[in-house]
Amino acid sequence: DIARSTIAFEGHFARDFPELAVPWRAEEAPEPQLLALNEPLAVELGFDPAFLRSPEGIGLLIGNAVPEEATPVAQAYSGHQFGWYSPRLGDGRALLLGEVAGADGKLRDIHLKGSGRTPFARNGDGRAAVGPMLREYILSEAMHALHIPTTRSLAVVGTGRQVPRETLLPGAVLTRVASSHLRVGSFQYARATHDLDVLRRLADHAIERHHPSSAGENNLYLGLLKGVISVQATLVAQWMLVGFVHGVMNTDNMTVSGETIDYGPCAFMEGFDPGAVYSSIDEMGRYAYRSQPVVAEWNLARFAESIAPLIHEDEEQAVALAVEALNGFRQQYSAAWFNGMKAKLGLPEDIDDDVASPLVDDLLELVQEARADYTSFFRSLGKAARGKVEPARGAVLDLAAFDAWLARWGALTPDADAMDRVNPIYIPRNHLVEAALAAATGGDMGPAGRLLTAVSDPWNERPGLEEYATPAPESFGPYRTFCGT
Ligand code: AMP
Ligand code: MG
Ligand code: MG
Repeated sequence: DIARSTIAFEGHFARDFPELAVPWRAEEAPEPQLLALNEPLAVELGFDPAFLRSPEGIGLLIGNAVPEEATPVAQAYSGHQFGWYSPRLGDGRALLLGEVAGADGKLRDIHLKGSGRTPFARNGDGRAAVGPMLREYILSEAMHALHIPTTRSLAVVGTGRQVPRETLLPGAVLTRVASSHLRVGSFQYARATHDLDVLRRLADHAIERHHPSSAGENNLYLGLLKGVISVQATLVAQWMLVGFVHGVMNTDNMTVSGETIDYGPCAFMEGFDPGAVYSSIDEMGRYAYRSQPVVAEWNLARFAESIAPLIHEDEEQAVALAVEALNGFRQQYSAAWFNGMKAKLGLPEDIDDDVASPLVDDLLELVQEARADYTSFFRSLGKAARGKVEPARGAVLDLAAFDAWLARWGALTPDADAMDRVNPIYIPRNHLVEAALAAATGGDMGPAGRLLTAVSDPWNERPGLEEYATPAPESFGPYRTFCGT
């Protein structure tokens, strides 16, 4: 029943921001084929999964069947890419179909990626291959399962068209769901229009959707800045705690909602290495694992600059207020990270810093020295808390130092059950992601489905899933990622 299954698309962004939205249509897909559908998310949004599996539903998922009330648009944004400013990026191969209201009354964007060239496409072909779209689906759903704020993935639909990359690859469209697609780069673009009214309306829209509590501040827009600083500080702390390397933290890939966005050359770190870089295009290591907090702070300074005229009409006063707010980033990031580390070690939050801090530092030094697998090492510490020091002990090099560390830590009676609730056993391991994408490219969705089953329930150890808890074999070699195309 199409009429009953179709939910209403609202067109707030399209209607309210004609300066930042170009009405556009998705390219017609010759032979759409549903490759992955996120049924729980569909239900959460109010869609009938059976409808989404029908030809009409698949048409909706790739933008070929546009609901009467919807106005698909390509969104304009700017961005600093690896530190260099591009005044006009925008959705080159993506469209915002519209917003849908959830049961909680909150709006969520329904967005297409890989849906054809738009006026922002520059030299790009507007298309996407099955592999990278499925990578985003798997990684974003894994992040969601880890309770880390992220855009979600509703579906991947094959287009039936070949996409020329290094070889010809099957094409696909990802249907993405986000609490919004407002980026730092959206504000950079609005600021560059020199139209203060557009900038203010965009800020008001962001406050209403993401930071309603700043409406209670006497400086509304300083409140917005503080809100974005706060959600980004906790987001990046959570990435660091699970060993996630985003890979392309350009200002156009940073949301004001605090959700992780744009799963291109990202990776979960295996052997612990603060300098880890996986992206083949990040030659300078700008977005290395350990640099992520500093880069986030840099991006937030670009956000502050963009909205500065709203914070205060006097530039000097605006800068002073913004700088004070930005100083809050380090403190909030450090607190979130340190609290997370204490939780990973099964220690109470109110434990004395002078005890917990050297304990964390000394452990990370041992893990780094051995390049131990970050995820399985922390998981195995839960066993150590129960008296089983292997395999944790076998993963480090300096056994005497580790035994001394275990004695200090054990004296604090760590809570093993609490540790198992924060240290995941299953993450999307790079070699398994690659194998799943290769199989899907060849038409076999089986490995992707099994990987999703494992990572959708990351803390609950289940028999038969050992493969998903094990680091890549030596033969996989050093991991390199490529910008998601
Ligand atoms: P990203 O590196 O994914 O954040 O994308 C940076 C910019 O390149 C955005 O403006 C994208 O819309 C655009 N882009 C990436 N791939 C393509 C493509 N195949 N066709 C058109 N535009 C693209
Ligand atoms: Mg992007
Ligand atoms: Mg991308």
